[in-house]
Amino acid sequence: MSVFKNYIGGEWREGDSVNQNINPSDTNDVIGEYAVASAKDAAAAIDAAATTAPQWAASTLQQRFDALDMIAAEIFARKAELGELLAREEGKTLPEGIGEVARAGQIFKFFAGEALRSQGDVLGSVRPGVKVEVTREPIGVVGAITPWNFPIAIPAWKIAPALAFGNTVVFKPAGLVPGSAWALSDIIARAGLPDGAFNMVMGSGSVVGEAMLGSDKVNAVTFTGSVETGAHVLAKTSGHGVKAQLEMGGKNPLVVLDDADLSIAVDCALQGAFFSTGQRCTASSRIIVTEIIADRFIDALREATAELRVGDARAKDTQIGPLADASQLAKTEDYVGIGKKEGADLIAGGERIDAATPGYYYAPSLFDNASAEMRIVREEIFGPVAAIQRVKDYDEALAAANDTEFGLSSGICTTSLKYAEHFKANAKAGMAMVNLPTAGVDYHVPFGGRKASSFGPREQGAYAAEFYTIVKTAYQRAG
Ligand code: NAD
Repeated sequence: MSVFKNYIGGEWREGDSVNQNINPSDTNDVIGEYAVASAKDAAAAIDAAATTAPQWAASTLQQRFDALDMIAAEIFARKAELGELLAREEGKTLPEGIGEVARAGQIFKFFAGEALRSQGDVLGSVRPGVKVEVTREPIGVVGAITPWNFPIAIPAWKIAPALAFGNTVVFKPAGLVPGSAWALSDIIARAGLPDGAFNMVMGSGSVVGEAMLGSDKVNAVTFTGSVETGAHVLAKTSGHGVKAQLEMGGKNPLVVLDDADLSIAVDCALQGAFFSTGQRCTASSRIIVTEIIADRFIDALREATAELRVGDARAKDTQIGPLADASQLAKTEDYVGIGKKEGADLIAGGERIDAATPGYYYAPSLFDNASAEMRIVREEIFGPVAAIQRVKDYDEALAAANDTEFGLSSGICTTSLKYAEHFKANAKAGMAMVNLPTAGVDYHVPFGGRKASSFGPREQGAYAAEFYTIVKTAYQRAG
């Protein structure tokens, strides 16, 4: 088996050792062997990015547009193949995998356009005879550290704006899913960028990640992952003045009010809680339902949950794939045990599922009568488990929704304009959805959260410029 290598300074290089990429739907299936970088490899990637930074910062807008547009075109052309690879390595279903790849293409296409849109303002001065210009310049070297649950879309929404705004990149993908990251890097490597403008180093957080966080040549770090790692990234980067952007965990509430359309509410809860096997930072892991609709809604949701087809991510009729690895499965099982012990009522799932192949399959699981202090209500599980809290009315529902250390996404199902408007204005989260699942976002608008879920400027859309550029204010005497 040949080894998929790291990409450093325009060359494909072996690492120190190799990492096997295993299919979570069939653990006998080894997708490939991927190089594991050493601290020296990471330093070489950072050096290459730093050396090329002035050249890429001086690139024309047309060069940036052409590179990103070329990357987008290849991603679109290969979306079926890359979507299958993604489903095979991460455990998302095939439609979810293909959808994610298409999203990566859309993001590169969007930022190809953003590269062309000039960033800046010409303003008057408070002084006579003076002109003021506010412009955006590249920051320099951007370190991009990504999680395993969106192995191509999240890298895309970090790498594309970094390059579009004239920065060079050192990309460290999650070790669990190197295949999609490698395929994306291979596409980027053929897009006509100067050597060193884009580098990809696969390896552990403790070696490659730490090398990025500790380097004085990295000017900004964009991180997506757990709250714990995010806090560490912030402590390390702020220690030497490096700009940081963190997107972390969630415990997103979906409120269902008495006046909700029942089928829309069930659909939002089902999709939000269980699709992508619940392994989404925006998953609806808390469902808060008011008392008059509660029994009808919970019965319908329990039935729909029990009917979900769990199986091989790439099989045609699968709706829910496996967990991504053994530790994710164990964590899910642990939390189901914790929920039972805490006194919540398990009304669906709660067990492993056997399939034709050995994989990390678990039945989508629902707890009823969960309460605010329970760990299944407070902690991110990151698996196909949702906890239902019964409340009296909208006021209690909103209070419960906001009673969390997280603040990424939030949702409400209601036919009342009054409650919809009030919820949008008062949900303490970065994103609020009305009659839509808490997961599922557009790529041309900002993405991000509040409280423990996020730190720093928003990702995606025109707002991405905030993180990937540095502002200059220039004053000029007229004439
Ligand atoms: P993780 O924090 O374990 O790892 C994320 C990345 O950080 C990986 O590439 C990892 O190797 C790296 N890393 C680990 N230790 C490091 C260190 N000391 N220095 C530098 N880098 C280090 O997270 P994960 O398990 O890969 O992902 C799941 C988490 O990501 C969940 O909490 C989920 O909610 C979150 N997530 C958030 C968003 C969002 O946009 N808010 C999106 C997807 C996932």
